Amino acid sequence: MHDLFDIDISQLPTMFPNETLYSWCGRYHQLSGNNLVTATNLQLFASRYAGLSHDIPNYINNFVDRTRNVFGTAEEIISKHSLLPFYLPFLNQEKATYIIHGIRTGSHIHTKYLLGLPASRVGANHPLKVCKECINEQEHNFGVCYWSLQHQLPSSWICHKHYLPLFSIKTTQTPVHLREWILPNKKYLNSSTFIPTLNSKQISKLDRISRFGEKTLLLLNSTFNPITLSHCYQLALHKRGMLTEQGNLRLSLYLPDLKDYYKDISTLPGFQILQSLDCTTGGFAAVISRKKPKVNHPLKHLLLISYLFKDWDSFITSYNKASNTPPTWKIHKSQDHTKTNNPLYKSLYDKLCNKHLSIRESANQLGISVTTAVVWAKEQGIDVNTRPKTIGSIKLKEITNLVKSCEDKKEICSKSKISLVSLNRIFRYNTELHDLWRYSQFSKQRDAARTSFLNILEQNPGVPVKYIRKIPGNNYMWLYRHDKTWLKNNLPML
Ligand SMILES: [Zn+2]
Repeated sequence: MHDLFDIDISQLPTMFPNETLYSWCGRYHQLSGNNLVTATNLQLFASRYAGLSHDIPNYINNFVDRTRNVFGTAEEIISKHSLLPFYLPFLNQEKATYIIHGIRTGSHIHTKYLLGLPASRVGANHPLKVCKECINEQEHNFGVCYWSLQHQLPSSWICHKHYLPLFSIKTTQTPVHLREWILPNKKYLNSSTFIPTLNSKQISKLDRISRFGEKTLLLLNSTFNPITLSHCYQLALHKRGMLTEQGNLRLSLYLPDLKDYYKDISTLPGFQILQSLDCTTGGFAAVISRKKPKVNHPLKHLLLISYLFKDWDSFITSYNKASNTPPTWKIHKSQDHTKTNNPLYKSLYDKLCNKHLSIRESANQLGISVTTAVVWAKEQGIDVNTRPKTIGSIKLKEITNLVKSCEDKKEICSKSKISLVSLNRIFRYNTELHDLWRYSQFSKQRDAARTSFLNILEQNPGVPVKYIRKIPGNNYMWLYRHDKTWLKNNLPML
């Protein structure tokens, strides 16, 4: 029996406020007397390796159940003891909810792909990092050493408390493949690998980015809107004269200045992304600050925020201002009135932005060439993708509608007359659609659970919940784990 019910919960080691869950599990394993890490994992998570994820853990609901909530709710464990809160503010709310659901239940085996880490070029490994002085203090004060959450963030390379560079631990395994718990220990400091000796300029710049990164941990439950975020950057760039009158980036001014700002740290480990600024298209800086930005890695945002704003509060003030007042250059664009009076010119906007047709279909319907349509679209501030598509946009729209209708894969294939292989390929290249499908499946499951729970309540008026929970198909536990707020609001008042 792999559970904790025969263990005195009061004997579990303390989880320090800034300690990662991985770190606590490692300390628990040492005390547990278990020979095998899998035995400890099964005890804590009902999963053989869940507790070995040093950055973003899994099966948190099981952990909370088995430790009987002594360390808080699943949300509290995720927000205070995992790296996920670093990423959540830069995702949209739906995706964030979906990822949290997966981490709680263990239903995602590729959370890092959902977060877009492998494709980000920042890295997905999260090397284990430690401050030499911090572990001296921990050992002296508590008799144990642990991994500090703040030090594990991709933006953290300086310990604020001691203003010292962090050591990156060298292990025989890459952190992503850990098969045992590693705890910070002085012996690692001797064989550690870390960035070269830093000068004061480098430390100052890294310290600033580290501090900004830690601010993101306080933003759980609120997410930045990527469009507002780009407006916020544009307002700051505008003040520096780095935008054209139409609000386009003046890359010839912007890039050299940004590169110069980061020249001291662009070759350091963890900051290779700064080298993308060497390309003429502007690399990540252009991608996240243009009018139609894409969701991107938090470190890229932090690098831009650190460059553009005096401090974190100034950035937040500017973000709030941008959300209330979009930049005026979007409204005051100079336009050729002969064209704007042309009904085809207006219709093109409607077809692309309201009806979401492709540029080719819009051009065909209006009887104009694709080249003209592209020029007109760009004049109206619409980003058009002129790359050839492997699937027609009408078919893609049909599939999107089926996804939105919560159809399962078999039904989508049957109704849209495509093979499962094709559907999987579409999902692979269209991650947003794939995420939408996964979220729709979750919504379907949630709605079915709500309905059956309400039906059972209706059929058993006045019956206490503890008996309702024994009725087959009641779904109480599922709702408790995934839809707690709704469940609380719908429990009978007895
Ligand atoms: Zn320290």
